[in-house]
Amino acid sequence: MGVPLFDTSTPLIALRAELRAAIEEVLASERYILGPQVSAFEAEFAAYCGASHAVGVANGTDAITIALRAMGVGPGDDVVVPSFTFYASVEAIVPTGARPVFCDIDPDTYCVTADTVRAALTPATKAVIAVHLFGNVAPVAEIEALGVPVLEDAAQAAGSTAGERRAGALGAAATFSFFPSKNLGCFGDGGAITTDDADIAERARTLRFHGSHDKVGYVQIGYNSRLDELQAAILRVQLPHLDEWADGRRRAGRLYREAGLGELVGLPQAADGASPAWHLYVVSDPEVDRLEGALSAAGIGFKAYYRTPVHRQEPMREWGAGVELPATELAARRHLAIPMSPVLERGQVDEVLAAVATIRGAAV
Ligand SMILES: *Cc1c(COP(=O)(O)O)cnc(C)c1O
Repeated sequence: MGVPLFDTSTPLIALRAELRAAIEEVLASERYILGPQVSAFEAEFAAYCGASHAVGVANGTDAITIALRAMGVGPGDDVVVPSFTFYASVEAIVPTGARPVFCDIDPDTYCVTADTVRAALTPATKAVIAVHLFGNVAPVAEIEALGVPVLEDAAQAAGSTAGERRAGALGAAATFSFFPSKNLGCFGDGGAITTDDADIAERARTLRFHGSHDKVGYVQIGYNSRLDELQAAILRVQLPHLDEWADGRRRAGRLYREAGLGELVGLPQAADGASPAWHLYVVSDPEVDRLEGALSAAGIGFKAYYRTPVHRQEPMREWGAGVELPATELAARRHLAIPMSPVLERGQVDEVLAAVATIRGAAV
């Protein structure tokens, strides 16, 4: 039968009429930029995350740059960031003028820890970007206990929780991406910054709007980076379903575990206290080529997202040359994302299991 790597369209089928009505409403309003839909989504998304403020921006990459600048990061500062992440987590530091300083990860959670961050701190460290990779939740409080503010890169972790709190309400500020394949996706590019700090929120609002309050007077060099009304309206229809989708992702992870996948390959471990809404379900194997071959033969979706870690990408040579990150290198070599979605079914999990079992010469 085959199983797709992800499925973000099936959950939207039931919402089609509501989505069309929301789009119609925006067309009828003739307000397209920074209007009532964006304000309402910002209030609803902040409340969902348990943060005091949300600021809609054009995408998750801009969200990081703008949040860092709103936190006071600039030229002469260092920002600690993992290398095992999507390229944008690091790329977004560079326009602030600060220097990315790479840190390692925990090989079981794929996230940074207080120890891996501590090893990378410098006298110039102004902030740490804790990436909640694959929907896991990095230990933000432990990292902030080192005395540096944390920006959560929560692009992959909408709906994930740590203890009683949600990703997006754990650090000094957090950033989200609403790229269509993320846990909460719009129909184009979109992003947001959440924070409890009114000053950070206010600075982010100004930065996304050319460094201005009114496009008449300008207080700093900013960006043209807004979430638009259409995307906000689309996100407002979906947000009430995010918890149900997040639970579907947790359930899919449980099904893999209960079916015995952990006896065949390495499974991702939830970080301490975290309840991940798995954005991607990433397993590991020392002979990952064989795993890829077995999945491919069975028509099962898979992808190695970060085979070359960011610090070894060409444009990063200035900051990445000579950096040694053993857990990152191992994860880069061995990881493989297998099917995950809010609607992954038992039968699909069994199909994946059967394909993986062939590399161990076992029948399931
Ligand atoms: C997707 C993603 C981003 C960037 O988001 P865009 O909306 O695509 O700009 C940043 N960090 C991580 C970890 C991501 O997965």
